[in-house]
Amino acid sequence: MTGLNNHLINLIKLHGPIPISSYMTEVLTNPKYGYYVNQKAFGVEGDFTTAPEISQMFGELIGLWFADVWLKMDRPHKIHLIELGPGRGTLMADFIRVLRVLPEFLNVIELHFVEASPQMADIQKKKMSKFEGTINWHETVKSALNAAENDLEPTFIIANEFFDALPVRQFQKGELGWHERMVTVNEKGDGLTTMLSPFPVQEVRLPEHLKMGELHSVIEVSPMTEFITDEICKHLKLYNGTALFIDYGYTIHRTGETLQAIEKHKYANIYKNPGLADLSAHVNFKKVMDIIEASGLVSLGPVYQGKFLSDMGIEERVKILTKQATAEQSKDILNALNRLVAPDEMGTLFKVVGILSEADIEVSGFNDD
Ligand code: SAH
Repeated sequence: MTGLNNHLINLIKLHGPIPISSYMTEVLTNPKYGYYVNQKAFGVEGDFTTAPEISQMFGELIGLWFADVWLKMDRPHKIHLIELGPGRGTLMADFIRVLRVLPEFLNVIELHFVEASPQMADIQKKKMSKFEGTINWHETVKSALNAAENDLEPTFIIANEFFDALPVRQFQKGELGWHERMVTVNEKGDGLTTMLSPFPVQEVRLPEHLKMGELHSVIEVSPMTEFITDEICKHLKLYNGTALFIDYGYTIHRTGETLQAIEKHKYANIYKNPGLADLSAHVNFKKVMDIIEASGLVSLGPVYQGKFLSDMGIEERVKILTKQATAEQSKDILNALNRLVAPDEMGTLFKVVGILSEADIEVSGFNDD
């Protein structure tokens, strides 16, 4: 029984059942019991491994992608570089290191980290200790965008496995309409379970073609993902710049639930022992693309992560790295390559989406062939 379990039971007894989105927010970011506050989430020892933790090549290639955009934007003399949910700071450390080849870009970067967990922010501070420029930490995307607005300079934004951590709401189709799935206390009163809200919602902003969804089908929406994407688009429209979102997700509207709990690299029960397992949901990239397109900015992708990294030259990078490596190291590098790009690993599950404020720039990574 976790502390968060008891906290939520008391809360629900007092206020009534809570939407799944509120449950997810509590599980991940509750200041006392939240998953990201207490767990050693990442790596072999942790509950899951992310692309930057698998290989330095990932952050390096992302860094080179942004460097290319910076050059093609005619070298703006200042860039606000915002990372959403930097985790252990590994991606940004690799990004910054690779920019030694282009110090003119490195020197104009002011960094902003958006991080909800003070514990993760501490880890990031240590990891970034070699960075000589300014780093600001923000608890919300809004606050980072506000800070970047001060001097009207372009903004570059990177988010790897951030949007999957944002809360989702779930609705199930009943005879009368769509009912929200809520978290409530079980019959014994010692644990949590789900129920459907007795009344259908009046106005779920459903994609038009899902309004006729089959009886009992479930849909997920992530209002926070939509809100943040919209805020980012508005900002890029005004101040110029670019963004890359990388995550697992789907590229056409679909029914079905994707919320999952992962503990020690295995699926776990979503409602048991809240705070001990990571919760995440697949990102609706169709919705994200619709928002970008409606803003009038250039949308890039979605492309498979494997394709994006190949276009960015990951195989060539592997060749260079393995030339200088021992047999053991070479095996690790090839293994990492496989995990990042192979279709049965992260290669096709993960997608890359980009936003660009300038229509006349040709970028790498998103070729159609
Ligand atoms: N990008 C990293 C970490 C991904 S895990 C990597 O690829 O390794 C998600 C990260 O987002 C963690 O740093 C977590 O603390 C942070 N996070 C989760 N929900 C958040 C929220 N609502 N606001 C800000 N940061 C959040």
